[in-house]
Amino acid sequence: MRVEVDGTHFPLETLGPGRRLGIWLQGCPLACPGCMSRHTWDPRGGEPMDVERLLALWRDALDRGAAGLTVSGGEPLAQPAALAELLRGAARLRSGLTRPGATGDGLPADLLVYTGYEESELDAARRAALASADAVVTGRFRVAEPTGLVWRGSANQRLTPRTGLGRIRYAPHLDREADGPAVQVVVESGRASGEPAGPPAVRLYGVPRRGELPRWERWLKEHGLRLRERSWRP
Ligand code: SF4
Repeated sequence: MRVEVDGTHFPLETLGPGRRLGIWLQGCPLACPGCMSRHTWDPRGGEPMDVERLLALWRDALDRGAAGLTVSGGEPLAQPAALAELLRGAARLRSGLTRPGATGDGLPADLLVYTGYEESELDAARRAALASADAVVTGRFRVAEPTGLVWRGSANQRLTPRTGLGRIRYAPHLDREADGPAVQVVVESGRASGEPAGPPAVRLYGVPRRGELPRWERWLKEHGLRLRERSWRP
């Protein structure tokens, strides 16, 4: 099955516990004011991939000791059938492991999904898409409701475990305030133009705290990277 993808990254360390594979799906109809990922809104603005290709990345991440998979976007539930297939496959590959993921707690790798939909907006198709998720972060990003809660962008967003593994893995984090770096900065050569020798793209992975994006802009400028476009500005 084909899925429209914004990007992938391993190791991702700012969206869930441990070192994880991050997959960002393309397309979001929710248009939250203040969204930092406006480049993911266009449903055809990413790269079409086979789910199998993403699962190969997951297999590789598991081999490298991934603690989990985080699927974000964009809005992952805008492609419910592909999301369901991805999570089903990821759960199958994880359960085939003879050793637990390198999480330090002896547990297998977990599957975490971010959605801008509220729990009450999860209809049958969306629930089915999340059937294999161990935990879900739900709710729109509300710029006027900042929070210090780890891995959440605004105070209304809920982190909800959905499986036994999710309940154990996420129990220490449900009400925990963020205490480490909230954003991971990755510079990708040529990504901005698609040409290897073209200008680099800077990817900021994570949930920035209030006022953090301008600080990163200043930091990048001090290090010789002046941003031409910013995904958090209209
Ligand atoms: S914050 Fe998330 S749900 Fe809201 S518009 Fe941006 S990508 Fe969509």
